[in-house]
Amino acid sequence: MKVLVAVKRVIDYNVKVRVKADNSDVDLANVKMALNPFCEIAIEEAVRMKESGVADEVVVVSIGGKQCEEQIRTALALGADRGVRVDCEEQMDPLTIAKLLAKVAEKEQPGLIILGKQAIDSDNNQTGQMLAALLDMPQGTFASEVKLADGKVNVTREIDGGLQTVALNLPAVVTTDLRLNEPRYASLPNIMKAKRKPLDILSTDELGVTVKSALTLLKVETPPQRQAGIKVGSVDELIDKLKNEAKVV
Ligand code: AMP
Repeated sequence: MKVLVAVKRVIDYNVKVRVKADNSDVDLANVKMALNPFCEIAIEEAVRMKESGVADEVVVVSIGGKQCEEQIRTALALGADRGVRVDCEEQMDPLTIAKLLAKVAEKEQPGLIILGKQAIDSDNNQTGQMLAALLDMPQGTFASEVKLADGKVNVTREIDGGLQTVALNLPAVVTTDLRLNEPRYASLPNIMKAKRKPLDILSTDELGVTVKSALTLLKVETPPQRQAGIKVGSVDELIDKLKNEAKVV
C-alpha cells in the first residue's frame, strides 16, 4: 500500500512571530522555517507503517515555491521514499490546496492519505476535510491512534471530552493530532541519503487546477500586550479590586 503524506513549510514553532509594519502579513524575512509539527507526526506515522510492513511506499507532497523542497528533503531524511512538489508561489486558500492535493492523489492512487490536523501558521484546520470531500473518501480527523487491518483503517479521534474510534474503508484520509506519535530526529547518514531520493516537480497547469483564492487577507495584528500584574496588600484589598475594578465578583 502506498501512503501519501502532505507537508507544509511553516515558521519554526520556536520563533517569535513578527508582523510587518503595515500589518499586511507576517514578516518572513530571515525567519527560520520548518516542517509543520503536525506534518512531522504524519510522516512519522507513515514511516512506521512502512517499517511494520503494512505500507510499502511513502510519498510526500508539498505545495509551494522552491524553498519548500527543504522540508520535502527533511521528510525524505525521516524515511519517506519519494517527494513531489507542486510549484506555486502564490498565497493559496485551503480549498485550492485541497484541489491540488486531490489531483496528486488521483495520479498517485495511495491507499491512505495522511495530513496534519492543522498548519500552525494559519490554523485553518480545513485541508484534510476538504480533500476527503473532493476525493469522496472517508475521513478520520484528529487521530491519536491509527491501526490498519483487513482493508480498513481504525482511527481513534480526539474529540471534546474523550476519544472516538471509527473504522474507515480504504482509501481514506487521516489527519494527525499531537498524541499520535513522537517523531524521530533525522540522522546525519539519512540526511545525506535524502539528497539522492527522487523529487518530482509538477505545475498547477499540469494538474489542471486554476489557482484563484476566494479569500483575501485583510490584516494581521499581534495580540495586545499583557498588562503588568500588581501586588495587593491584603485580602480585603484584593476583594475590593475584584469587585470594583475588575468587576468579576
Ligand atoms: P490547514 O488546513 O491549512 O490547517 O492545513 C492542514 C494540513 O494540510 C497540513 O498539516 C498539511 O498536511 C496540509 N497542507 C496545508 N497546506 C499545505 C501545502 N501548501 N502543501 C502541502 N500540504 C499542505
